[in-house]
Amino acid sequence: MASDAGSSQDLYAILGVHPNATQEEIKKCYQKKILQYHPDKIDPHSSADVKQHAMTIYSVIDKAWQVLSNPTTKKEYDSRVKEEKLNATLPVYDTVPLDDLDWDEESDCYCYPCRCGGEYAITEADVDEQIELVCCDTCTLGLRVIYSEESLTRKSEVDTGS
Ligand SMILES: [Zn+2]
Repeated sequence: MASDAGSSQDLYAILGVHPNATQEEIKKCYQKKILQYHPDKIDPHSSADVKQHAMTIYSVIDKAWQVLSNPTTKKEYDSRVKEEKLNATLPVYDTVPLDDLDWDEESDCYCYPCRCGGEYAITEADVDEQIELVCCDTCTLGLRVIYSEESLTRKSEVDTGS
């Protein structure tokens, strides 16, 4: 029975809506779907297998709705999916600690050279949000940045050091 609520199933596909659908549209699709599989709607003469199957789908739909109907959990879900997609599609060129990036005063960015001759740039805002994956400004490779306590301390020294 245990199914992991943390795994990123495509909740939009489960409800049959577009990821950009409005709350209203999501709700409509949910209501339509959940009716199809509502325990009351299942033919009582159906086999146990059919009933069990309907129950499973019912709970999956219900769970999807619980996440997507709440703006906070929906946002969390959206950003998690976005990150997973990025991880899945973006070939990672290298994984480096923030300390290995050079601070570039001119552009106010931490920079790291890409093998294509392009550059990875991380702004202070990115550091504040601890953005882990940055795209090269020239090619399609990504750079994974590791934030350590140390690098964050050093950053604040840079901030106040002048
Ligand atoms: Zn590149």
